[in-house]
Amino acid sequence: MPALAGTCDQVRDNPAMTLTLPDAAPDTLTNPVGMAWNNRFASLGPDFYTPQPMRPLGQPYWISRNAAVARELGLGSDWLASAEALEAFAGNRLLPGTAPLASVYSGHQFGQWAGQLGDGRATLLGELQTPQGGREVQLKGAGMTPYSRMGDGRAVLRSSIREYLCSEAMHALGIATTRALCLAGSDDRVRREEIETAAVVTRTAPSFIRFGHFEHFSYADQHAQLRTLADFVIDHFYPACRDATQPYAALLQAVSERTAELMAGWQSVGFCHGVMNTDNMSILGLTIDYGPFQFLDAFVPGHICNQSDSQGRYAYNKQPNIAYWNLFCLGQALLPLIEEQERALEALESYKTVYPQALQARLRAKLGLLDDAARQDDKPLIESTLQLLAAQQIDHTIFWRRLCHFHTPAGREAVRDLFLDRPAFEAWAAQYGARRDQQDPAVSTRLMLATNPKFVLRNHLGEQAIRAAQHKDFSEIDKLLKVLQSPFDEHEELADHAALSGFPPDWAADIEISCSS
Ligand code: AMP
Ligand code: MG
Repeated sequence: MPALAGTCDQVRDNPAMTLTLPDAAPDTLTNPVGMAWNNRFASLGPDFYTPQPMRPLGQPYWISRNAAVARELGLGSDWLASAEALEAFAGNRLLPGTAPLASVYSGHQFGQWAGQLGDGRATLLGELQTPQGGREVQLKGAGMTPYSRMGDGRAVLRSSIREYLCSEAMHALGIATTRALCLAGSDDRVRREEIETAAVVTRTAPSFIRFGHFEHFSYADQHAQLRTLADFVIDHFYPACRDATQPYAALLQAVSERTAELMAGWQSVGFCHGVMNTDNMSILGLTIDYGPFQFLDAFVPGHICNQSDSQGRYAYNKQPNIAYWNLFCLGQALLPLIEEQERALEALESYKTVYPQALQARLRAKLGLLDDAARQDDKPLIESTLQLLAAQQIDHTIFWRRLCHFHTPAGREAVRDLFLDRPAFEAWAAQYGARRDQQDPAVSTRLMLATNPKFVLRNHLGEQAIRAAQHKDFSEIDKLLKVLQSPFDEHEELADHAALSGFPPDWAADIEISCSS
């Protein structure tokens, strides 16, 4: 893939990069039985969004459908496979009860205030009730909105496949995320560095509200709207905050804690997001807006996955600090409601205790350490493990998976084989082995096999699926979806399970992923 010079903003704001698709009035479909839409977000009122006409996608076709999310939403797979569903989720026809809208937000991009942004290519259809609570359903890539600025409102097939697969992979890894219901494609042309084709991902979440929604109203001194938004989020998603003496400070603290848990999740699986702008930070602590993300191959703490991030602001090892910086922006935005600076700072402080605790808990599980953490300080062991991986740039996923079997001679040898500097390995292995011997081996191994995935969406796997899809072969996507939805299983039934879980090929190092999507 060609590298992209400049930042996301330069690409979007360059008229030569855009292609406008025609508007058309959509027809209405019939709803399948039992599908009742509401839209709590719309109740916020017109300051928060613009009703959004659908922009049809030319001759859509199915690329993939996700039965797991369909079940969660109460949609039958037969209906989801229908031509009607395709029309609905390509954005070509309205489902009754939906009232599509695009929301307005602002944000800090690459550390700078970027002003008004908004759903430039996302359309919220509405919300479906599920036993797990309301799930908003949003189309990404469904055409221009008042917030598209110079963008075309579309998403290309390549980035849509990556979002579709990765959000499901994250969910299966136990990391909070938006999810993906289905992926529709079209031969409509979309101009990026090259001409590509368009796709629409249908994604779901309890809410798509971002830090940037709060920043938007705060920076515009619209404090009544800011309060309405904060009350909405508290009432629907953080009800316990309502009982606090200062509900808005409690909200900031709760979001800080969820974000801390999220960062611990990302760091523990080697996930780099790539564009942690405040408009890409979920108020629910979900992973959102999959763009130039990457799972680490070799453990290189300073790894930068986004070709557009020339300063390395969003490098892997900077993510936890950037999340804190972003929370600070949220705190700043909430200050008119919290009123006292000290209280806001106090609420943010919780991040500094929750993040290390959450990370330590995840890493102890990865190391198979079961016994009470209070009895043993595992911090030095955790640090020496990460230092060893970094010093020798060991493959992150393969190391942790092989470590599951460290207690057997063959398993130990398989781990040792990863290291060129054998004395360094042996010194660490003595330290780890002594600690591991204190655990019940069967229980420890079971925990590790359920914590250290065999499969993650490495860049080259995504790339292989993208290349096949560009030739209209969508089978790789479905195969990867299945594997990534149960990443702790061995999947020996697949002839290529070893390749899917193996080292990246040499060409993987040349894959360049930018903000262009
Ligand atoms: P991102 O960097 O992808 O998070 O996008 C930042 C902002 O640009 C958001 O407001 C997006 O909705 C908007 N945006 C990104 N790509 C496009 C596009 N192709 N068309 C319209 N808006 C876009
Ligand atoms: Mg975004």
